[in-house]
Amino acid sequence: VIRCRAAVAWAPGKPLSVEQVEVAPPKAGEVRIKLVATGICRTDEHLLQGCFPKAEFPVIPGHEGAGIVESVGEGVTSMKPGDKVIPLCLSQCGECSFCRNPESNFCQKSHISEPQNLLPDKTSRFSCKGKQIHHFLWVSTFAEYTVVPEYAVAKIDPAAPLDKVCLFSCGFSTGYGAAINTAKVKPGSTCAVFGLGGVGLSVVMGCKAAGASRIIAVDINKDKFVKAKQLGATDCINPQDFKKPVQEVLTEMTGQGVDYSFEVVGHADTMVAFPQTASFASFNMSTGVCVMVGELDSGSEISIDPTLLLTGRTWKGTVLGGSWKMREDIPKLVSSYLEKKFNPDLLITHTLPFAKVNEGFDLLHAGK
Ligand code: NAD
Ligand code: ZN
Repeated sequence: VIRCRAAVAWAPGKPLSVEQVEVAPPKAGEVRIKLVATGICRTDEHLLQGCFPKAEFPVIPGHEGAGIVESVGEGVTSMKPGDKVIPLCLSQCGECSFCRNPESNFCQKSHISEPQNLLPDKTSRFSCKGKQIHHFLWVSTFAEYTVVPEYAVAKIDPAAPLDKVCLFSCGFSTGYGAAINTAKVKPGSTCAVFGLGGVGLSVVMGCKAAGASRIIAVDINKDKFVKAKQLGATDCINPQDFKKPVQEVLTEMTGQGVDYSFEVVGHADTMVAFPQTASFASFNMSTGVCVMVGELDSGSEISIDPTLLLTGRTWKGTVLGGSWKMREDIPKLVSSYLEKKFNPDLLITHTLPFAKVNEGFDLLHAGK
């Protein structure tokens, strides 16, 4: 058993508390990882607010980390202590029908089809003050050590800087993949990206890499525009600067509406809220593709005018960037990063010591 620090969420709506926790050794088929860096994603905030489906407290949040294998359980063959790894919030067992489908990144053996706060054997490797603490998405990266099933861990290039590539565990891979894999953005096309957090800016990078000729970045926080432009946005607009709805502004800017639209905020009103439809109605009425990346609070519902789809538009969602095969493709993305094919370093706004994790959330709330 390892004793180390972890940020525990004891109840919804409360700040994290940094505690001494016990991390049990990995069981058969599991890997114990010493985490070196973690990012903060808005999804962690959904969890802390109690808006994440099936979440149980107390829990150790965090799902955007990178680290080094400390020890492996019986039967683990694909990695050994000392290997650099990224724990994955979506596993790849390689055998189920989803894993065998090239269009899907799901895995039937992932936590998505199971109660997601415990490991596959329905127990936890974390305890604190005599209480069992739940895992989050199996990975729980707000801890100095974590235990994850081998088939939810990707071994990466030993040259990778862990404080940078931790973003490949969620934010970057999600946004970049939403453009490349889910929308399949075509060269010369026009895109609109609603929400320019870490995920939305990664969508901008994906649209640019796919050869989009116009990328319109939309955010109510104009401080986000500098980076959006550096990463490939051609126009930046703040919906609050206009009297008319943003979809009308976009239609005027483009003539016929954008070809691809991405909702990366996680609000029902930016997703559909008719008749002020923002991201949905702003795209081309016959061939437009709208990708839902932002996460709505669990239990929310949205209604749409069906004629919006009847005319030929496509409305789809994506989890962690569509068709990546996580254990194979995340290491490839890391290698492309090392070859300088894209620069997600720009997504990093602040670097804080672990004990200041709540300050990280304050910065997220402040839009910084
Ligand atoms: P973030 O908070 O860093 O960024 C959200 C951005 O949206 C902010 O810049 C904010 O100013 C902007 N915004 C707020 N209201 C707006 C509005 N009405 N119009 C335009 N912009 C607006 O969040 P993030 O970490 O980048 O995550 C974005 C969303 O993606 C969250 O909902 C998160 O849960 C979700 N997410 C989904 C997946 C997935 O697999 N589908 C993965 C990661 C994150
Ligand atoms: Zn995330």
